[in-house]
Amino acid sequence: MKRVLITGAAGFLGSHLCERFLKEGYHVIGMDNLITGRIENIEHLFHLKEFTFYHHDVTRFVYVPEELDYILHFASPASPIDYLKIPIQTLKVGSLGTHHLLGLAKAKKACILVASTSEVYGDPLVHPQSEDYWGHVNPIGPRGVYDEAKRFQEAITMAYHRYHGLDTKIARIFNTYGPRMRLNDGRVLPAFIGQALRGEELTVFGDGKQTRSFCFVDDLVEGIYRLLLSDHHEPVNLGNPDEVTILEFAREIQELTGARSKVVFKPLPVDDPMQRQPDIGRAKEWLGWEPVVSRSEGLKITYDYFKSLPEEDLYKTEHNNFEEYIKK
Ligand code: UDP
Repeated sequence: MKRVLITGAAGFLGSHLCERFLKEGYHVIGMDNLITGRIENIEHLFHLKEFTFYHHDVTRFVYVPEELDYILHFASPASPIDYLKIPIQTLKVGSLGTHHLLGLAKAKKACILVASTSEVYGDPLVHPQSEDYWGHVNPIGPRGVYDEAKRFQEAITMAYHRYHGLDTKIARIFNTYGPRMRLNDGRVLPAFIGQALRGEELTVFGDGKQTRSFCFVDDLVEGIYRLLLSDHHEPVNLGNPDEVTILEFAREIQELTGARSKVVFKPLPVDDPMQRQPDIGRAKEWLGWEPVVSRSEGLKITYDYFKSLPEEDLYKTEHNNFEEYIKK
């Protein structure tokens, strides 16, 4: 049985990856410090003998006694609100955390895939973004802590590949959505759905003309799975090229939820990218991958998930453990 270590296992993407690798017959070791991850996302896996969980912070030395075939590094805060609140932890998990996991991969002779992001392109001047675009990033803005940590992550990963011959993969992940996103992490989709369910106005930032391209989580997981098993070491964009303005997106959520909530306009956050759309030519050619779930199908599944949550969750302001963590 092959063994895979997944960091950020209790997070949105990490928990879906744990399920997928268990389904493929792997032994999965999940690791998470539970700052932004939620144990509820994976507690249904705890009874499986093929699943092990380590409560650990990867910015400290990572010790895993078992042999490992694969490592997926998905530990990181990933929403603008999170990295504003925990900027230093965000920098550390992308830099020190990645260094520890690369070292672990080398010691275990394991293949490692790191989760990078479309944020490496910053507020892009090229559209759509292909992997050979180097980006337009403000290193000292509020998003800089995430963007630069991820750019460093790519650099050190390529260095381990070139210098140590490590088998490495880099996924540049574009906006992804689905069940288990945190309701109040500030991301646009849970924000709009939460507002609609509470009967509040939908807060569109700026004039709403900025665009994003949203990928359903199952499609993303399939892309990650194929990339891990491929022999390509250069970064690969994974995302859904179906681009939409945030204002149109708000309208879609109104229609989906039947909410009478009106749209209100709020100031645009600093360095909010104006356009974002992946060029997925490389993923198509190298992995034979492209998304198959339409936004309307994916949104329906996601909405059903949010509706199924206990009503009091809708009114919690925090869905994370920052406070306890920061006190330590
Ligand atoms: N956004 C918005 N209203 C909200 C939350 C976000 O209009 O309540 C906008 C945000 O300014 C950005 C887009 O939606 O232009 C996507 O934001 P998100 O935080 O989900 O992801 P990212 O900016 O990292 O792509």
